[in-house]
Amino acid sequence: MAVDSSLSPEAVIHPPNEKFAKALQFIEEMTKNTDSVQARVLAEILSQNAETEYLQRFDLGGATDRDLFKSRIPVVTYEDLQPEIQRIACGDFSPIICSHPISEFLTSSGTSAGERKLMPTIKEEMDRRQLLYSLLNPVMSLYVPGLDKGKGLYFLFVKAEAKTPGGLVARPVLTSYYKSDQFKTRPYDPYNVYTSPDEAILCCDSFQSMYTQMLCGLLMREEVLRVGAVFASGLLRAIRFLQLNWRQLVHDISTGSLNPRITDSSIRECVAKILKPNTDLADFIFNECQGENWDSIIPRIWPNTKYLDVIVTGAMAQYIPLLDFYSGGLPQSCTMYASSECYFGLNLKPMTKPSQVSYTIMPNMGYFEFIPHDPNNPITLSRDSPPRLVDLADLEVGKEYELVVSTYSGLCRYRVGDILRVTGFHNSAPQFKFIRRKNVLLSIDSDKTDESELQKAVENASVLLRQYDTTVVEYTSYADTSSIPGHYVIYWELLIKDPTKPPSDDVLAKCCLVMEEAMNTVYRQCRVADNSVGPLEIRVVKMGTFEELMDYAISRGASINQYKAPRCVSFTPIVELLNARVLSVHFSPVAPQWTPERRI
Ligand code: AMP
Repeated sequence: MAVDSSLSPEAVIHPPNEKFAKALQFIEEMTKNTDSVQARVLAEILSQNAETEYLQRFDLGGATDRDLFKSRIPVVTYEDLQPEIQRIACGDFSPIICSHPISEFLTSSGTSAGERKLMPTIKEEMDRRQLLYSLLNPVMSLYVPGLDKGKGLYFLFVKAEAKTPGGLVARPVLTSYYKSDQFKTRPYDPYNVYTSPDEAILCCDSFQSMYTQMLCGLLMREEVLRVGAVFASGLLRAIRFLQLNWRQLVHDISTGSLNPRITDSSIRECVAKILKPNTDLADFIFNECQGENWDSIIPRIWPNTKYLDVIVTGAMAQYIPLLDFYSGGLPQSCTMYASSECYFGLNLKPMTKPSQVSYTIMPNMGYFEFIPHDPNNPITLSRDSPPRLVDLADLEVGKEYELVVSTYSGLCRYRVGDILRVTGFHNSAPQFKFIRRKNVLLSIDSDKTDESELQKAVENASVLLRQYDTTVVEYTSYADTSSIPGHYVIYWELLIKDPTKPPSDDVLAKCCLVMEEAMNTVYRQCRVADNSVGPLEIRVVKMGTFEELMDYAISRGASINQYKAPRCVSFTPIVELLNARVLSVHFSPVAPQWTPERRI
């Protein structure tokens, strides 16, 4: 790849390593021929799936050309595809959307009717995902040499899986990947050596998994060259785990005996091979962790860390300051942009600052189209007359678009829900800044709560207030990530008819729980299984607070006629205004209900 003058100062291009020449060449070929690769991918998808019920419904007659495809096939959302997905989930194995057998469902962190969306996938998609993974180290090695001389401390986890009524497995895409033969029987690659044993990654008990991964990371601390997790929230959860468990970890290291809470026999067996009494290391960790000072804890414990490998774009940007604090300002590298529907692409300048990260969608991963996105001039899409969407090679720099994908697994013109801005091109392939996901109000970890879910939660909780003649007159919310795990804060302005009989703390705490019970399954899973979201909090504010909020917005130029109370706030002066008016705070007393089984 060519040296680029817009790289951040940390980024210095190193001569490509022989081993990686083929992968880098592949990136060049794909990105130089964006449009022809896209035409080929679409033709492959359409000919592979020509006999499917879905494509036949639109009379493509086996044609594979773009124009016919664009004029006949509707642009759809998950809800539009529900009938087909439901049939597959219930065991109809006829070629409904894909001619290849659906091997499993990938459960998205995006939800529909409170449940994770089910994304059908086929066996060969795993190879396509694997191909994208195989490009990451070659690109990184252009910027950070010597990654084959040490290990990666990555906190990686599997999550619970379920079976659909028709017997297909439904699980998150990373769980599917870590449990695949591609991952478990991967050949030795000095660039991909992890401190975490596979046994720990594959353990579905999140405490045992995290404990073992942290312990192994501590035992191999001097070999660690990079520290990472998929998302920033995951890495911060690991630091919090260390804060809570370092004494036991120190004990294990000093005595050479593993915490009895680790009961998984395969973990015990592999840890036994590396855990020996080491008082020097135990003393070192004791000294680093014992005080109040956790500033730069990552480079203090893992002094050879060159960068953090975590996604800090999109909703995760809220964690950048905290990661800076714990890492003493180590570079934060966002390497990949992917989803359950399709793995999209990678960051070709992985050492750029988070605010400047752009992802290059790889044209071989699927067929990509784009709906121009202008918040002031939204496009209405009708199923009957599909709009002419913009192709990957025809996007304009500076404009925002909503991503639409067609995949080998049978999704056709599917709206992913991500809004991207084109920042430039690598060869003829556009590069994108991730702007946001549509309709997400609150997010702490992989949870995504939209406005209607929050509204429903508030309505359900308000029912408890009726017997106290109390109503919620206004509310807003805030994703509080000042402590880990972060949690939802809901500000309530209450009208209490009889101030001598206000709802008690007990009642308001129950309101918190009722709200949590109303949240979607991903939120509840984060609360219950992953402990990555803390108990929901209600902050009751003084009467008149929301009027003050309106005055503030109007003083900053909002129109009085069109003013609506924001349902989520993040702007510091507004959060400070709300916090200055708090009368009482209440927390959910217990975790909400969650099981891996789907509710419907
Ligand atoms: P899921 O389907 O649960 O795997 O979630 C996929 C979604 O996560 C994407 O559609 C994006 O909204 C978000 N996402 C994935 N990768 C990134 C990234 N690198 N930066 C920001 N958001 C991302």
